[in-house]
Amino acid sequence: MRRYLVAGNWKLNKGPAEARDLVTTLSVGLAGEALKGDVLVCPPYVSIPAAVDAARGSSIQVGAQTCANDESGAHTGEVAASMIKECGGSHVIVAHSERRTDQRETDDEFVAKIARTHAAGMTAVFCFGEQLADRKAGRAAEVVRAHLEGVLPRIIGASADNLVLAYEPVWAIGTGETASPEQAQEIHALSRSVVAGILGDDLAQRIRILYGGSVKPDNAADLFNRPDIDGGLVGGASLKAADFLGIIQGAQSVA
Ligand code: PEP
Repeated sequence: MRRYLVAGNWKLNKGPAEARDLVTTLSVGLAGEALKGDVLVCPPYVSIPAAVDAARGSSIQVGAQTCANDESGAHTGEVAASMIKECGGSHVIVAHSERRTDQRETDDEFVAKIARTHAAGMTAVFCFGEQLADRKAGRAAEVVRAHLEGVLPRIIGASADNLVLAYEPVWAIGTGETASPEQAQEIHALSRSVVAGILGDDLAQRIRILYGGSVKPDNAADLFNRPDIDGGLVGGASLKAADFLGIIQGAQSVA
C-alpha cells in the first residue's frame, strides 16, 4: 500500500516571511489530523530555513525545487544538495518542465542532481511529461517513456524511499487545464510498467507516482483515487493555504 504524497512547488514565490506565514497556517490547518500520507512544500532556496522552522512539530516536510549538479567549487549561483539537507530539507525536485525549458537542463544533469540528492540523504522527485504538441501528435506515451528511460537506468541505489516520480503533462501546468483522471491513470500505469522494466517489479509497485498539472481541491480526490496515482505535485494551488489544505483533504478522503 503506497502512502500518498501531496507536494507543493512554490516556484518563484514566497520569500522567508511569507513562507513562514504559509507553513504556519498549513500546520495549524493540519493539527490534530491523522495524516494517511505525506505533505511536502518546496519554497525558493532562501525561504527553506524559515519554512523548516515554521514546520517544526508538524508533519510538513520541506524540500527544494532543484539543486546543483556538483557538490562544491566554482559554480556561481548554485546551491549543493548537502546544503539543502543542512537547512533541514528532505526532498529535491528534479527535471521540472520549467527547468527543462528555461535552463535547458538535460538527462545528464538530472542524473547528476538525483545522485547528489541521494548522496545528501534526501529524496528526489523526478518530473517527466509531454508537451501539448506531443499529445496532439499521439506521442505522449513515447515521450514519457523516453524521459524515464533517459534517466532511471543510470540511477544507482534507487529505492521507493529516495525516489518519487511526478508525471506532469506540460500542457496542464499552470493552464487550468487538467488531464482527465483517465488520461492521467493511463500514463501512470504505463510509467509504472516502464519502471518495472528498468528497476524491477518490486520497486515499481512501491514507488510513488504523483500527478501534476492544475490539481485543485475540486479535482484532487478524483485524480488521487486512480490506482496508479499516488498524490500530486501542485504549483499554483499550493500557494494558498485553503487550496493546498483542500487538496490534502482530497487525498485523505481516498487514502
Ligand atoms: C507544477 O508546476 O509543478 C504544477 C503542477 O503547476 P500547477 O499546479 O500550477 O499546474
